[in-house]
Amino acid sequence: MIIIGGGQSGLAAARAALNAGLRPVVLDAGVEPVGSWPRYYDSLTLFSPARYSALPGMPFDGDPDRYPHRDEVTAYLRRYVDALDVEVRTRTRVVAVHARPTGGYLVHTDSGDELGGIGVVAATGSFGNPYLPTLPGQGEYGGDLRHVARYRRPDAYAGKRVVVVGAGNSAVQVAYELNTHARVTLATREPVRFLPQRIRGRDLHHWLRVTGADRLPRAVVTRLVRHAAVIDAGRYRDAITSGELDRRDMFTRFTADGVVWSDGTTEAVDAVIFATGYRPDVDYLAPLATLDRGMPQQVGGISSTHPGLVYLGLEFQRSFASNTLRGVGRDAAHVMAALAAHCRPRGLRQKPHAPSGHLPSTSPAQRAAGGGQR
Ligand SMILES: Cc1cc2nc3c(=O)[nH]c(=O)nc-3n(C[C@H](O)[C@H](O)[C@H](O)COP(=O)(O)OP(=O)(O)OC[C@H]3O[C@@H](n4cnc5c(N)ncnc54)[C@H](O)[C@@H]3O)c2cc1C
Repeated sequence: MIIIGGGQSGLAAARAALNAGLRPVVLDAGVEPVGSWPRYYDSLTLFSPARYSALPGMPFDGDPDRYPHRDEVTAYLRRYVDALDVEVRTRTRVVAVHARPTGGYLVHTDSGDELGGIGVVAATGSFGNPYLPTLPGQGEYGGDLRHVARYRRPDAYAGKRVVVVGAGNSAVQVAYELNTHARVTLATREPVRFLPQRIRGRDLHHWLRVTGADRLPRAVVTRLVRHAAVIDAGRYRDAITSGELDRRDMFTRFTADGVVWSDGTTEAVDAVIFATGYRPDVDYLAPLATLDRGMPQQVGGISSTHPGLVYLGLEFQRSFASNTLRGVGRDAAHVMAALAAHCRPRGLRQKPHAPSGHLPSTSPAQRAAGGGQR
């Protein structure tokens, strides 16, 4: 069974696979299997406390009420994969997945290798596929235009005029931190909405868990909460309502050196940062003709076109928490049950590796490369 992607989703998949008695190999394009966390912006801390941010079987060390920094998450994932006795091949980018006429899949890598597997888990996240809208005049704009995926730290923008586009967590966090270095406007289509980080003395994630909101599917959540909201302990809302952080309606077009605001005024702008989200990064599945305008055709992470193909880490795959550290483990158990049932008739299961809830703490993850049927 082949897991494509060695971030939190791929690692959660590997653990669930071992629990289900499957023998996985994890292929990751990066230098180590820690996902995209090292590439997120430098100041990033988790929006959930450590106690609500762990993958199955291994809690975060230290104070469970702190909000771990990006680098702690990377270190945590390193420990997680070390404790997981699974074969991981790094620096291995999957370029194509083909269906075999006899059943199963052939996975092609950028080094020219081919791996055969009865089951495939697509767990490659979305960070490699940032979504950038196209606005009138965008092609003529000569300033620094980038997606927030390529933003790292604020000092590079010292003294500049910067517009950050978006109304989600990344947009507001980045605009807020840039505001002390640059002249910043947060440009949004709607007023920014907030979710309180703490309610009645407890973190929001406590309430998401006890109310079951964390497990709600997209259809129910969007009925309850119609707009994306930014998790906030108060400082972002205060900065916007006080005018300390300028928030304006979205500009209507670009000019050669800036933007045209909705009231018709033009302004020169040094940099525009789009924090406008991501799309699943699964182009390597194109040969299967399973993507609908780039989006996987799946229900709850199980492909609706190809038996034995499952996904992990998609936004709202099964619930509000699907694309988070705290939620991906539940989804992994769900899709792996389907994969195990798919593999069972082919006799590819082995004895379950470890009882659910406990990580095996055996040998290092980095195993010698092996091939053959998975
Ligand atoms: C800025 C930001 C902040 C976030 N903050 C939080 C937070 O506070 N709390 C939280 O729970 N979640 C947060 N998330 C959401 C989510 O938890 C992360 O995006 C997380 O990194 C997703 O894990 P993943 O394993 O699905 O994808 P990634 O972490 O993106 O991992 C995908 C892996 O697949 C590999 N890969 C990609 N393409 C290929 C290929 N073709 N072949 C082989 N390997 C490939 C990559 O090398 C990478 O290692 C945040 C997301 C972002 C973008």
